[in-house]
Amino acid sequence: MEDFPQTLLGFEERFSSEEACREYLFHLRWPDGFVCPRCGLRAAWHTNRDLYRCGSCDYQGSVTAGTIFQDTKKPLRLWFRAMWYITSQRQGVSALGIQQVLGLGSYRTAWMWLHKLRAAMVRPGRDNLSGTIEIDETYIGGVKPGKRGRGALGKTLVLVAVEDKNSRIGRIRLRQVRDASAKSLTTAVTGCVAPESMIRTDCWKGYGKLSQLGFTHHAVRHDAHVGENLLPMVNLVVSLLKRWLVGTHQGAVRPSHLDYYLDEFTFRFNRRTSRSRGKLFYRLAQQAVSVSPLMGKQIAGDRHNGNH
Ligand SMILES: [Zn+2]
Repeated sequence: MEDFPQTLLGFEERFSSEEACREYLFHLRWPDGFVCPRCGLRAAWHTNRDLYRCGSCDYQGSVTAGTIFQDTKKPLRLWFRAMWYITSQRQGVSALGIQQVLGLGSYRTAWMWLHKLRAAMVRPGRDNLSGTIEIDETYIGGVKPGKRGRGALGKTLVLVAVEDKNSRIGRIRLRQVRDASAKSLTTAVTGCVAPESMIRTDCWKGYGKLSQLGFTHHAVRHDAHVGENLLPMVNLVVSLLKRWLVGTHQGAVRPSHLDYYLDEFTFRFNRRTSRSRGKLFYRLAQQAVSVSPLMGKQIAGDRHNGNH
């Protein structure tokens, strides 16, 4: 059952204690009761208000162990407020915004939280796109336009896949790709589109192998007049993505962090018709206890290893 507060006041009343937050996470993580993360059995003792011990393998852990909240020194109440804030802002938030709203002492902490929550926006085990899919690539970042099939300095190539639901845009997937070669594009497509789907692309040779892989491939002609919009859905999503990156993040996205932003955009876009912000909060909290902890070290290493 989907259980979430509908309003800010409802949220404030419901999550006013650590216990209430823990209990909420418990029901999201183990809707049918504790399951040992190590051995999968259900026999457990509740050793104190926060720890569970498996009766079979002696595993002991809290409801937050193995989730993005693992080892946090801050109250869950604050995390819950971060999740509510992030999901209630339609356009997304910056680390500075989070820091100010939550009164966090350090920008670094705000930045880490935002990245952990972005990582949770990717739905674990999510379904691939299916049906009719429009696909193209776009360059993100950099100053000069890039040439296709080659690397462009300071730019990152992103594969954009959009479901065509009777000429209306369905779900999307965004994937960073190394280049526009057949190998890179084919790997990205098979990673986000279900077999036997109908795929529409332009005539770029990088998509030439799709029909051999069980997809129905339709390449729209490339002798189109200038300005003719052959892949209108992809083009619309790309322009919204770029506007969002510039508007919310001032375009200051490092290539090594781009995946997080693409995840956030996808999460928001695929739920754009959700009328209840509370439901977005529920989804984010649910996914936050379903993904492995994204360790600070991992993000920090990513930030400093010069991969951009
Ligand atoms: Zn166990």
